Amino acid sequence: MRGEARRGEGYPVVLAADRMLTADYGVVFDAMVAASQTSAAPRWLLERLLMGDGRGMEIAPLGLRRVEAALRQAGFGADEVAVAGERGLDAVIGPATRVVGISVGEPLGLGMNSTTMSEVAGGTIYPQLYFQDLLRRVRRLMRERAPKARLLAGGPGVWQLAMHPDRMSEMGIDHVVGGYVEGNIAGMVRSLMDGKEMPGVMDGQGVEARLIPRLRGASAFGSVEISRGCGWGCRFCVMARTPMGHLPEENILADVETNLSSGMRDTAVLSEDFFRYGASGAKTAPSKLLELLGRLREMPDLRLIQPDHANLSSVAQWSDDELKEAWRLLVGKTGRKHPWVNTGVETASGALLAANGGRPKMGGVNPEEWGAFCETQIRRLCGAGFMPMASLVLGLPGETEDDVRKTLEWVERLGDVAVMIFPMFYAPLDGAPPVKMKSLRRIHWRLFRACYRLNFKWTPRMYADHQRAAGIGWGKRTLLQTLGRMQTWQWQARFKIQNSRFKI
Ligand code: SF4
Repeated sequence: MRGEARRGEGYPVVLAADRMLTADYGVVFDAMVAASQTSAAPRWLLERLLMGDGRGMEIAPLGLRRVEAALRQAGFGADEVAVAGERGLDAVIGPATRVVGISVGEPLGLGMNSTTMSEVAGGTIYPQLYFQDLLRRVRRLMRERAPKARLLAGGPGVWQLAMHPDRMSEMGIDHVVGGYVEGNIAGMVRSLMDGKEMPGVMDGQGVEARLIPRLRGASAFGSVEISRGCGWGCRFCVMARTPMGHLPEENILADVETNLSSGMRDTAVLSEDFFRYGASGAKTAPSKLLELLGRLREMPDLRLIQPDHANLSSVAQWSDDELKEAWRLLVGKTGRKHPWVNTGVETASGALLAANGGRPKMGGVNPEEWGAFCETQIRRLCGAGFMPMASLVLGLPGETEDDVRKTLEWVERLGDVAVMIFPMFYAPLDGAPPVKMKSLRRIHWRLFRACYRLNFKWTPRMYADHQRAAGIGWGKRTLLQTLGRMQTWQWQARFKIQNSRFKI
C-alpha cells in the first residue's frame, strides 16, 4: 500500500519502532514477560510464544501513535507521514525521506527492570537488542536511500541517551527529544525537514490532557492512556515532575474504538495511578473511573480491560464496595478472575522512601506507618478480587540493613494472600552506575528469595487466568507454563548459589 502510494519515493516523515515495541501481544503481561527476558533465553521462543504476528495490523507503541496524531493534526498529510515496524521500513524509507523518528524504550539497557534482569539472569536485555536491530536497519536504509535525512529519537527511554550524548553520535542518532511532545513535535519536524540546525538534545512540550490528539491506528496491546504523568516527586522516577492530567472520557472511548476497529480485542488503560482517574489533585473521584469502566464495558467487541499501575494512597481513598465494583467492571463476562495492578511500594521503610522524595506518594501517612499502611491496602485489593503486584527498589540512596529487614518482614507477613512482589535494583536517573548484584548484602538476598517464593506461586496462576480470558489456546498456555516452570528452576538454582555464598 505504502510502496504504491509513494511509488518508491518513500515518505518525508517515517515513524518507526522495533519488533518488540510493535509486537502483537496477547495480554499486557506477555509484553512485560518479553521485556524482562535477556539473551540467556532463546529469541525464537520469545517471538513464537509471546510476540504474535500482528494479524495483519500495523501496531505501534502508544507514544509513536500520539506523535503521528499530533503531526496529522498540525497539517501533515497522510502521504507525508508513515508509521512502520522494522519489517515495513523498506517500503517507507526512500529518497523523499527527510526525518526518521524512532521510539526508544531501553536504548542502553539502563532502566531498573533491565539492569536487574541482566544482573540476575545474565546476558543482555532483549528490549536493548531489538532496539539495536532497528537502529542497524534504519541506518542502512538511510545511508542507501536518504543520506541527508535526520534521525530523531524519542520515547520513554530517551533519558538514557540524553545522559550519554557520546553514545548518541556512536549510534548515528542526530537528535533526541525528551518527555511528551505533542505541543512542539510538528514544529521540530518541520525545522528538521527544512535542514535547520537543531540541538542534539531537545525538550518536548506536552499539551493539556484534554488536548492530547486521538489515536489514528492500532497501539501496542490496545493501550490507551486514561491519565498522564504523576508528579509525586519520587527521585528515582522519570514521572516525578510531570503533573497528572486525565484524558476526557470521550477521547478515551474514541481511542479504544480506534484499536477495536483496527482488529484489537483487548485494551490496557494506562496510568501511573489507575484509581486516581478523574481526581482533583490527590483527592480521588471513584465515580469517574467507575463511569468510564462502565462505558468501556458496554462496548460489545471489547474483551479485557487491563489496568497497569496504582498508588496505594489512592486505593486507601476507595471504599471496599467501590473496589469491588471496579473489579466487577474490569472482569465483566470474560471469565477472568484476578485482574492485576502494580502498586509501587518501593520499600516498607517509610523514612527511606521519604528521604528519596517519596513523601507525597505516601498521601499523608506517617513514614513509620508506611509498611503497615501498604499491607492493609494490598489486603483490601486482594479482598476485592484483585491480584496485586508490588514493586520494591533495592539499594535506594541511604538504605540501611534495618530498612531492608523491615521490607523483608513486610514481605513475609503477606505470605497468606495472593500477591506478587518484584524487587528491582536501584538505577539512578543521573547516569551514575546502577546497583550491581555483587554489591548486594545477605539480607537483600533473603528479601529477593522471599519475594520470589510468592512470585513462583502466584504469577503462573494469574498469567493462566489472563491468557484463558484472552482466548489463548490450551497448547500455547501449557507450553508457556512449562517454560515458566523451567525459568523458575533456573532462578531457584541462582538463589541456591547466592544462599551458599552468604550461608543463608
Ligand atoms: S508515585 Fe510512582 S509514578 Fe509517581 S513519581 Fe512516585 S514512583 Fe513515579
